[in-house]
Amino acid sequence: SETPSEEFDVIVVGGGPAGSTVASAVALRGHRVLLLDQQTFPRYQIGESLLPSTVHGVCRILGVEDEVARAGFKLKRGGTFRWGRNRDPWQFSFALSPRLSDPTSFAYQVERNRFDAILLDNARRVGVDVREGCRVSDVVADEERVRGVRWTGPGGGTREARARYVVDASGNTSRIHPHVGGKRTYSNFFRNIAVFGYVAGGRRLPKPNDGNIFCATFDEGWIWYIPLRDELTSVGAVVSREHAAAVQGDPVAAWRRLIDSCPEIRDLVDGAPQAGEAPYDEVRVRKDWSYWKTRLWRPGMVLVGDAACFVDPVLSSGVHLATYGSLLAARAINSTLDGTLDEARCFGEFEARYRHEYGLFYEFLMSFYDLHQDERSYFWKARKVTNVGATELEAFVELVGGLASGDAALAAPAEAGARLTAASSDLDRVVGRLPDSDGHRNPLYESAAFRQTFHEGAVLQERGLLGGPLEEEAPLRPGGLVTSEDGLGWAAAAT
Ligand code: FAD
Repeated sequence: SETPSEEFDVIVVGGGPAGSTVASAVALRGHRVLLLDQQTFPRYQIGESLLPSTVHGVCRILGVEDEVARAGFKLKRGGTFRWGRNRDPWQFSFALSPRLSDPTSFAYQVERNRFDAILLDNARRVGVDVREGCRVSDVVADEERVRGVRWTGPGGGTREARARYVVDASGNTSRIHPHVGGKRTYSNFFRNIAVFGYVAGGRRLPKPNDGNIFCATFDEGWIWYIPLRDELTSVGAVVSREHAAAVQGDPVAAWRRLIDSCPEIRDLVDGAPQAGEAPYDEVRVRKDWSYWKTRLWRPGMVLVGDAACFVDPVLSSGVHLATYGSLLAARAINSTLDGTLDEARCFGEFEARYRHEYGLFYEFLMSFYDLHQDERSYFWKARKVTNVGATELEAFVELVGGLASGDAALAAPAEAGARLTAASSDLDRVVGRLPDSDGHRNPLYESAAFRQTFHEGAVLQERGLLGGPLEEEAPLRPGGLVTSEDGLGWAAAAT
């Protein structure tokens, strides 16, 4: 044909956190990767509150943890909620998870234009051929496989690129995702609309929780309050779809009115004016409907990030699901390209784990939106859904910290130290760390079942200490695969 064409091992469409992660994790294994993004970075995106699994797990594997740490993003130690039946705010701290040691028990509140650019530059550094201003219009496929993409660069003119795999990481507005599994399935339960903007200033929660995300419910929905810098706060209201017309008609007026109707947020904003610096000088609207796909891959193509699925933003799981899903996809791609394992098996593992993690958040969030409950009931549900953690509270923190999968790659190596501390510290100290909501120690943590579980956990950790790896990873499902030693591929489970 007349269309100029190039060859790669992998083509990634989209340079957000999902695209940068999968591209870097494949390039780190020495494969040739092309990444195309239609925009020029830095570019604006919403989704500013991150989880520890992303900043310590994924960023460490990609070799960008230190650079992210030096960027000066606001430290996020946990979350504070005015949520549910309890009229008083309650909070959790990532430090409550034994899988996070002190140096890693936090995440960041990031300006996404800067964070995403750091990840994309790092992809370039590890060898990805990153091209900005390049829009993908379609995939090239035959009956057997997807074989490449058609794209248009800044100079115009359609071009073609071919590869063993095309990764769709082009976000919620993806045009090519229907090539895998057809249309999206939308949740009937989570169909909200978000209107969000920025204030110059605003009050902070008392230290050390001044970097926490604060979420408060009110009659019409809930509002997030995310401190980004001393002088910059992200404030967004999430309301049900009945309010769509009013919100879309006059977003700025709707945003102001919603803030004024929520006393806790109004107090924090404390009259601070709307931010005047670009890109924070606009009030934006997005439908945050939750969706997923019946399939996440087909021979030659795989979906990651918002192109694959999205679940309600209240627990800040978007970037975690995007980067973790991308790591899982990179493992499948790497192991297939290496010829070590069969394609269907590798991608089956990717899809099962990705769905599982998405499912945890989805199921938990259904109960989290039952506002007649109090936080103890939410913690209980987290334990029931995840089956991790010694206590309900720990299960909740592991879930909202992005660690419920148990994937060792997501907890920093300091995890080893953390496990040791948890195993050797005496029970009372650990129990003493757990908050109580009404001045009494929560009986949940004093139950015999809790003590028994805690004891077994400690024994396991000590055994790990004495011989070999701290934890032999078990396959997620019978016959499933485990993570390779470098975290970038799959391996057959030891029998
Ligand atoms: P994106 O970051 O959207 O990147 C996709 C990229 O693909 C873009 O750069 C785009 O230019 C490019 N692209 C698109 N089409 C093409 C094409 N045809 N050709 C080439 N390139 C293309 N997540 C959190 O973690 N924390 C939060 O606090 C949070 N809050 C949220 C609040 C709201 C209201 C909403 C709606 C979401 C929130 N999220 C949050 C979710 C978060 O925004 C997303 O999950 C995350 O940005 C997904 O990353 P991604 O890499 O998949 O997609």
